Amino acid sequence: MAELRLGVLGGTFNPIHLGHLVLAESFRERLALDRVLFVPAGTPPHKRAEALAPALHRYAMTALAVAGHPGFAVSDVEVRRPGPSYSVETVETLASEWGGARLFFLMGSDTFLDLPTWRTPERLTAWATLAVGHRAGDEFRPAAAAAQAVLGRLGRRGWRRVPPEPGESADAVHAIAPDEVLLVEVQSLPVSAREIRRRLTVGQSIRYLVPLPVAEYIAHQRLYSAEPG
Ligand code: ATP
Repeated sequence: MAELRLGVLGGTFNPIHLGHLVLAESFRERLALDRVLFVPAGTPPHKRAEALAPALHRYAMTALAVAGHPGFAVSDVEVRRPGPSYSVETVETLASEWGGARLFFLMGSDTFLDLPTWRTPERLTAWATLAVGHRAGDEFRPAAAAAQAVLGRLGRRGWRRVPPEPGESADAVHAIAPDEVLLVEVQSLPVSAREIRRRLTVGQSIRYLVPLPVAEYIAHQRLYSAEPG
């Protein structure tokens, strides 16, 4: 049987929104992934705890958002683990839970530039191929010194573009060299969790920014509102 191609998309998902879902769907298509696993962070080491909904709520919203898509699933690996959520431990756990699967660790370009602040980011690449989503009009410059410094920190030699540039071989999705990072052209929506939280605090609508069941859950649980929930 062909090996299972598993994408891992971590995030605080505070809350999950259509930008995350479009990003994941682009990765799924571009990298021919069998499954994208959304991994809500339990206690993220990088984000300030204020305005962070409890992990179980963020997990529940993520589960509602991915329900009905056979290529999407949610993992509770970080939510059930006590202490800060370090991605390297997550990827190790998933590699053993999904023994034999080929793992792709997915992220937006802003997250890629943050990698040097993570715990042992170079060890991520021992378990998974890194894939960075590049959006049209995005400020991220893969050839710029900042991005090259992160590649160096990870011990990676360079980028492999997906889809390939004209004249390049089309095998990028299946035959990436071990010392490359995938730079994947993705679609994106100008939606941010921060703006959604801001809208909720002042009582504005978030319809069409998050899936309807997520909006209903937020209203029902009174998350992110100025009033105590
Ligand atoms: P916040 O606004 O609270 O900082 P965030 O959505 O940026 O939230 P995460 O939930 O941790 O933070 O994001 C998970 C991943 O989704 C990150 O890799 C981030 O780059 C990416 N991402 C977030 N929003 C978008 C978007 N609108 N389009 C594409 N990628 C996105």
